[in-house]
Amino acid sequence: MNTKDKIEQINLCDRAIRVLSADGLFRAVILKNTQSAKDAQTKHGYPQFVAESQSKILSTASLIAAFLKGEERVVVDIQSDGRISKLFAEAMQIGEVRGFANYEVTEAPNFANASLRISRILYNQSEPITGIVELKSDLIQDDVEEYLTMSEQIPSFTILDVSFDENGIVKQSGGIIVQAMPGAGAEAIKALGETLSKSERLCHLYDQGLRPDQVLKQILPFEFSVIKSSRVDFFCRCSKEQFTAKLLTLGADEIKAMKAEGHNELVCQYCNKHYTISDEDFDSMINEISIKMN
Ligand SMILES: [Zn+2]
Repeated sequence: MNTKDKIEQINLCDRAIRVLSADGLFRAVILKNTQSAKDAQTKHGYPQFVAESQSKILSTASLIAAFLKGEERVVVDIQSDGRISKLFAEAMQIGEVRGFANYEVTEAPNFANASLRISRILYNQSEPITGIVELKSDLIQDDVEEYLTMSEQIPSFTILDVSFDENGIVKQSGGIIVQAMPGAGAEAIKALGETLSKSERLCHLYDQGLRPDQVLKQILPFEFSVIKSSRVDFFCRCSKEQFTAKLLTLGADEIKAMKAEGHNELVCQYCNKHYTISDEDFDSMINEISIKMN
């Protein structure tokens, strides 16, 4: 691969870019997560109506995570009585994101009596910082905006966008959060909101081949400097070892029953990876438990 192709390849990667305005009064994160959203959809085989909401939840988690540090992370989930009963996304500041959806293919509305919960798991806090808002629409972005403004007491603007190709597969996905810092005037905040609401659709800007930093330059009404630019990937830390460790806690009888019933396939709910437990695996687990018992 030559240098030009390599640069091209890097530009195609999912990315979160955090910026600060030149006057220090606004901070923003822009995300392009087309590939992660597509990975989530294809790994789980989601129909378009599920992938649309799931992509936005993945975006929300990655956007908020971009404001954190180290291995701090964000969990975003929606519980609802609609045909989508649950959406889950987890993102780490370092760029990993994963998630899943529970749904039924019916004619019911996507969401009913739905709530959006956002938790930040931070280094210096013993408990996650959690807030819940009622989910008022399928757009999700207004509810995320309400959560941020309410929980962090910071005037915030949120854009979440996803587009699909003719086969119902994610074509582009991304989002933006802009927040006013202490000292930002009410007029400037209002003007920013108006500018953002009139900006061209994010997915269309990505369709034009613009990088996230170029998109920000186009739509933000102020000069800014890039604080951080990090790669984002759909990534699950699951492993066969993790699953067998969990199985060991069930006890020997349960494991013997699983072996006898041929219940030897385990599926990760986050990434839909299938793990096969062989008879030898079962035997060594049973053996391990009996050693511990003695
Ligand atoms: Zn997994």
